Amino acid sequence: MTNSSESKIVVKNLVKSYNNKTNAVNGLTFSVSKGEIYGLLGRNGAGKTTTIRILTTLIPPTSGEAEVCGMNVVHKATKIRKLIGVVQQGEAFDFTTVEGNFKIYQLLWEIPKEEASNRMESLMELFKIEHLRKKRMFELSGGEKKRVQVAREFMHDMEVLFLDEPTVGMDPIMRRDVLNFVKDKAKEGLTVLFTTQILEEADYLCDRIGIMNNGVISAEGTSTSLKNSYGDLRKVEMKFSSEVSPDSIEKLKKEFSKISDIQAYLISEKESEFIIKNIGKTLPLILSLFGSTGVSIETISTNNPTLDDVFLQVVAR
Ligand code: ADP
Repeated sequence: MTNSSESKIVVKNLVKSYNNKTNAVNGLTFSVSKGEIYGLLGRNGAGKTTTIRILTTLIPPTSGEAEVCGMNVVHKATKIRKLIGVVQQGEAFDFTTVEGNFKIYQLLWEIPKEEASNRMESLMELFKIEHLRKKRMFELSGGEKKRVQVAREFMHDMEVLFLDEPTVGMDPIMRRDVLNFVKDKAKEGLTVLFTTQILEEADYLCDRIGIMNNGVISAEGTSTSLKNSYGDLRKVEMKFSSEVSPDSIEKLKKEFSKISDIQAYLISEKESEFIIKNIGKTLPLILSLFGSTGVSIETISTNNPTLDDVFLQVVAR
């Protein structure tokens, strides 16, 4: 596999099947350069966690290739583990105190005692978790536990940090502090793969974003380039004067699927919502379809779609 010397993560045609039915990861290809923060953005079930688990050597891929720090994740798992940090869903050592938890990792990473102790103290201060040091991990709130997990990873020197939804449960201030800390470390050369369902986070933190859906990346780019590509979309919402029958809804759905400028839509008996291109041409088409199906419209409104609409409804369709 060819690998640019600058790439810290290289994934090519990666596939993971848990049960031989559907592929959780389905031919994924992407790479992340040294010092880059790459965000995998996608809804629940898109395949983000599976990707992270393969790259952190926890599970083997079904097929395809994955390299971290220039090494194959299957053949060089032990070496890779020494060079990476991981914040994942769940916690391996839930019964330890926070302080005890740091100590376990100090031993795992073979950090000299005094150095580890100094690092722990400064990380506890930075991440504002000093008051939690005697609490057991399972007693912490979701956000507190994530803070401890992120702080703990910075005890050891690493080349690549994998963060699987690291800010879940954190309040907005702590979330911003943690993201800023990660950003500073990336400026010093740390490579980061970050997964989130929160668009604003990816927008704020990531140099590049891959929108993941059904095990593949459906769109990739900087946040600005992705926004520009989908900038001419409009959102149209309509309420109907009376209930539309299930038969008519089915007929309408067939017709909508033929109009390529309808990027996404939802329709129920009482209302509908569209994200469309070329509003001047597309909206009259939709209205005439409603007219010919006998659907009368009570209210109609058009807006610019939010970024969430664009990324999660259109790009990750
Ligand atoms: P995400 O992190 O984006 O929410 P996941 O990687 O967790 O997505 O899941 C991708 C798909 O794989 C989902 O359909 C999920 O149900 C399935 N999946 C995840 N883990 C397992 C597992 N251990 N066994 C079977 N199916 C799984």
